[in-house]
Amino acid sequence: MAKEKEHINVAIIGHVDHGKSTLIGRLLYEAGQIPPHIIEQYRKEAEQKGKATFEFAWVMDRLKEERERGVTIDVAHRKIETNKYIVTIIDCPGHRDFIKNMITGTSQADAAILVVDVAECVQPQTKEHVFLARTLGINQIIVAMNKMDRVNYDQKKFEECKEKVAKLLKLVGYKIEEVPFIPVSAYYGDNVYKRSDKMPWYNGPTIFEAFDMLKPPVKLIDKPLRIPIQDVYSIKGVGTVPVGRVESGVLRVGDKVIFEPPGVVGEVKSIEMHHEPLQEAKPGDNIGFNVRGVSKKDIRRGDVTGHLDNPPTVAKDFTAQIIVLQHPTAITVGYTPVVHAHTAQVACRFVELQKKIDPRTGAVKEENPQFLKTGDAAIVKLEPTRPMVIERVKDIPPLGRFAVRDMGMTIAAGMVIDVTP
Ligand code: GDP
Repeated sequence: MAKEKEHINVAIIGHVDHGKSTLIGRLLYEAGQIPPHIIEQYRKEAEQKGKATFEFAWVMDRLKEERERGVTIDVAHRKIETNKYIVTIIDCPGHRDFIKNMITGTSQADAAILVVDVAECVQPQTKEHVFLARTLGINQIIVAMNKMDRVNYDQKKFEECKEKVAKLLKLVGYKIEEVPFIPVSAYYGDNVYKRSDKMPWYNGPTIFEAFDMLKPPVKLIDKPLRIPIQDVYSIKGVGTVPVGRVESGVLRVGDKVIFEPPGVVGEVKSIEMHHEPLQEAKPGDNIGFNVRGVSKKDIRRGDVTGHLDNPPTVAKDFTAQIIVLQHPTAITVGYTPVVHAHTAQVACRFVELQKKIDPRTGAVKEENPQFLKTGDAAIVKLEPTRPMVIERVKDIPPLGRFAVRDMGMTIAAGMVIDVTP
C-alpha cells in the first residue's frame, strides 16, 4: 500500500478584498475538489436565481454565501491533494476570525499563503497578518501576487509590489530567499493550479506546486499529550465525555489522564472520532473521550488534558514575546486584558514590561519601558487572574501561542517563552 501522504495546514491571509476566497475557490475547483453532483447543485441554484453563467462563478457564489453566513458546508472540506501532501486550507473569513482561527481554531497553520492585490499592494491588514503569522510561529510563507490580470500581467508592476512585500516580510524576520512570490490571477486561474502562458517572464512554481516546496510540519506526536477541552458532555449510559482536539502526543484507551487546572484524574474508557470508536488518537484528531472518575461539573472548556505522569503546566505567571497590534493608548503595568490561548480565555495582568525589542532581530531597544504602543514588540510578564494552562511555545507550540483581546479588538499576539508553574 502506498504510504499515506503527510497532512499540512495552510492559512490564507491578506487584506480584505485582495482575493483570498477567490483563490481558495480556484484551487478547490481546479484541483477537482468539488464533486460533480455539487457543481450540478450549484448550477441549478444559479439558474433559479438567474445568475452567473459559468462553472467557476457558481462555485464562488456559493463560497461567498457560506462566508456571509459564517458557516462551512459542502466545499468546506477544503482539502487538496498534491504529490507530497494533503493540504488543508484554513480560511479566515472576517478579519477578527483570523485570530480566533489561528489560536483557538480547529487547525493550527503550518504555513501561510499571503494574498496581495498587486495594484493595491501592501495594506494595513497585510501588515497585521504578516506580523501575526510570524509571532504565531508560522515560519513558511507563500506570496500570491494576485489580480495580475488587472495590471495586464506586467512584470514591472509585479516587481514593484514584490519589493514592498519582501521588505515587510524581511522586517518581521522571514528568510526572503525561501519565499516564493507567485504572480497569479485567482479569478482567471493563472498560475494557481495551471501554469499561465500570459507571463512568459515568470518561470517559478504555481501556487499548487509551491505547496510541495513547503517543509513538512513539526511532529507533535512525540511531544507530551495535550488536549484543550472545547466542551464537556454528560451522556446517559456512557458518562462524562470531554471533547477537544489532540494538539500533541497520543491518547490511548486505558490511559490515566489528568485535567488541569482543576487537577482531576480519570481513566480513558473509550475514544470516538466522527462517531467511530478509536483505540488511539493523534495530533489533529477531533475527539470525544469517555473518562471514568470525572464528573461533568469538575471540568470545563479551557481545561487541558494530559497524562498523569506528564501533566499540563498550570502557570502562576508566564513570560512572553508579544507584538502590540493595536491599542488606542498604551499598555502599562497593571493592564488586565483577556488572554485567549488554546480553548481558554483568562484575564491576565501585565506585571512586568521587561524589554522593548526589535521584532526582526530580537535586539533589545529599551530595558523596562514605561509603556508599549501599537507596533511595539516586547518581552513581558503576565499573571493570570485565575489558574490557567499555558506552555512554552518551544515545548508545545500550539499551547504556547495566544492573543490578547480587549474592547472587542485584538490588542496583541504573543508566544510564551517561559512559565513559572
Ligand atoms: P477576500 O476578501 O480577500 O476573500 O477577497 P475576494 O476573494 O472576495 O475578492 C474580492 C474581489 O476581488 C471580488 O470581487 C473578486 O471577484 C475580485 N478578485 C479576486 N481575485 C481577482 C483576480 O485575480 N482578478 C480580478 N480582476 N479580480 C479578482
